[in-house]
Amino acid sequence: MSRTVIRGGLVVTAAEETPADVLIEDGKVAALAAPGGEWSQGWTADRTIDATGRYVIPGGVDGHTHMEMPFGGTFASDTFETGTRAAAWGGTTTIVDFAVQTVGHALREGLDAWHLKAHGNCAIDYGFHMILSDVNESTLKEMDLLVGEGVTSFKLFMAYPGVFYSDDGQILRAMQRASGNGGLIMMHAENGIAIDVLVEQALAEGRTDPRYHGEVRKALLESEATHRAIQLARVAGAPLYVVHVSAQEAVAELTRARDLGLDVFGETCPQYLFLSTDNLAEPDFEGAKYVCSTPLRPVEHQAALWRGLRTNDLQVVSTDHCPFCFTGQKELGRGDFSKIPNGMPGVEHRMDLLHQAVVDGHISRRRWIEIACATPARMFGLYPRKGTIAPGADADIVVYDPRARQTLSAGTHHMNVDYSAYEGKQITGQVETVLSRGVPVIDQREYTGRAGHGQFLIRDTCQYLG
Ligand SMILES: [Zn+2]
Repeated sequence: MSRTVIRGGLVVTAAEETPADVLIEDGKVAALAAPGGEWSQGWTADRTIDATGRYVIPGGVDGHTHMEMPFGGTFASDTFETGTRAAAWGGTTTIVDFAVQTVGHALREGLDAWHLKAHGNCAIDYGFHMILSDVNESTLKEMDLLVGEGVTSFKLFMAYPGVFYSDDGQILRAMQRASGNGGLIMMHAENGIAIDVLVEQALAEGRTDPRYHGEVRKALLESEATHRAIQLARVAGAPLYVVHVSAQEAVAELTRARDLGLDVFGETCPQYLFLSTDNLAEPDFEGAKYVCSTPLRPVEHQAALWRGLRTNDLQVVSTDHCPFCFTGQKELGRGDFSKIPNGMPGVEHRMDLLHQAVVDGHISRRRWIEIACATPARMFGLYPRKGTIAPGADADIVVYDPRARQTLSAGTHHMNVDYSAYEGKQITGQVETVLSRGVPVIDQREYTGRAGHGQFLIRDTCQYLG
């Protein structure tokens, strides 16, 4: 039996913060005890980690990543190997990535393809959501099978006509199916039909720079789609999880639904909390670095997102990590913003940026852990195995130095992408050591993990329901 003890740290979970020593046996948390007390002094271990002056927190759970995602004729530049290594560097020990169904093909084909990409390559544990691109009688039946295999959430798109888009009838059918099989519908809520009209008009008028990507994808078209998705979910009697909420008007729709007691959940991402249309307007095509959908919003929207996170009208912060290099990938859209691959790098910096939000007074320490670890674990059926530090939980644990200073930069990050969306940003706090099921993946800021350590997670259904 292998035993590790972490001594002297402040254990922070969503529920409490308390000085405690942590005993790990065979990859699981075995016990917590008062630091230096008689009980924990008696613990023998193969390895002792001194966490004096450090936080001891659950590994991050990033419920929204796109490793190797095909988009616009290219692929997201992080593989499962490079992307999960970068995640580990940033204190994230679980990702839930999106397997993609191609139109005309079975869900099974898409899921098998994603298993092949990930198997043997991940440094940390991973699960899959399934993107439904083609809702029909046979894919609806397949949904039931996938729930049984631990792929318990399904993403639909109201955007991207001709690629991922589902019409309202398809959405309703998928929601009805989910209400019967326990699946969670995740929605990209933007009115893609209307957006495509505005894209065409902008390009015809010579408005081709990256900033027009943000201007045509109007906040009203996000809030309209959010409203419509909520009503369809009510009709179907299904829960709804809205991904990457960026507009304050969309937060208002979620707030209204939650005030009615509906099972409606919302996620936002660091880019919407820390970046804005000012970045999209950067000259010399630099704005392309910040092209993602939903788009970055004017800076005033940030206050509504922070408020939503404090009031629990937004419950989760994930990254929507979908990196494309500036050189050779983002550049595909020079002279036509609609050809810029949509997505940004971020999987490495979520825990740090949210710790900065604690330092800045936006959220509390426990809320940091709640929105980044505990709630995504519950939302996607992984709690308490993931997302907390308690006896029986996987020993996915981060020793975090809350006083370290770091500067985010493409020169030092570990994601396979040639720019940082946060170049030069100063952060207080840094990951020091990361354990995945008790095994050091980052040890005193050295990478000690390996591709293939990470295991596929068979997830339960959403733990906020029933
Ligand atoms: Zn996404």
